[in-house]
Amino acid sequence: MAFELPKLAYAYNALEPNIDARTMEIHHSKHHQAYTTNFNNAIAGTDAEKLSIDEIIKNISKFPMAVRNNGGGYFNHSFFWTIIAPNAGGLPTGELALAIDSAFGSFDEFKKQFSAAAAARFASGWAWLIVKDGKLVINSSPNQDNPLMDIAEVKGQPVLVIDVWEHAYYLNYQNRRPDYIAAFWNVINWNEVSRLYKNEMAKSLKEAK
Ligand code: MN
Repeated sequence: MAFELPKLAYAYNALEPNIDARTMEIHHSKHHQAYTTNFNNAIAGTDAEKLSIDEIIKNISKFPMAVRNNGGGYFNHSFFWTIIAPNAGGLPTGELALAIDSAFGSFDEFKKQFSAAAAARFASGWAWLIVKDGKLVINSSPNQDNPLMDIAEVKGQPVLVIDVWEHAYYLNYQNRRPDYIAAFWNVINWNEVSRLYKNEMAKSLKEAK
């Protein structure tokens, strides 16, 4: 069974003016589609075809580089689309807001550190907010790697991510990655980030028992 490009829960123009429609359309229908197609081609006829995407990602060191790059691209983009949304942004609430304050001192400090990680990621990659050992941690990854992969320097469960590949912003922001990062805060789907955070905390609590 081949992996399929997931449908977006919103229209390509729904994130305007923060992320423009043309960028969204090319990013999803061309870039993400290409990762999906190339991922399927890379696993065709191998045992990986019988595995879930989670099983492949968590054991990525056992697969060829084409699976790491394209499977990572398939997974990372599928995740990215869910943590951005129209009529979003603003501030997190509830348990997540408390956890952010506890880990970083304040939301503003978290915003500063996450934005800095996204800006500092050299060339192409992603900046992440993950749950690691029950705590929120910021890190970034090169290429299409992610913190769930067994090869990751810092491992954890992702709850938020920003794509800082040039294809994610270049049409609208050109070389101004910091402007794209600033706009990203206006489209963060905090409801989904909160849900992921609570899920992960409930899971680690259960495992600890
Ligand atoms: Mn991308």
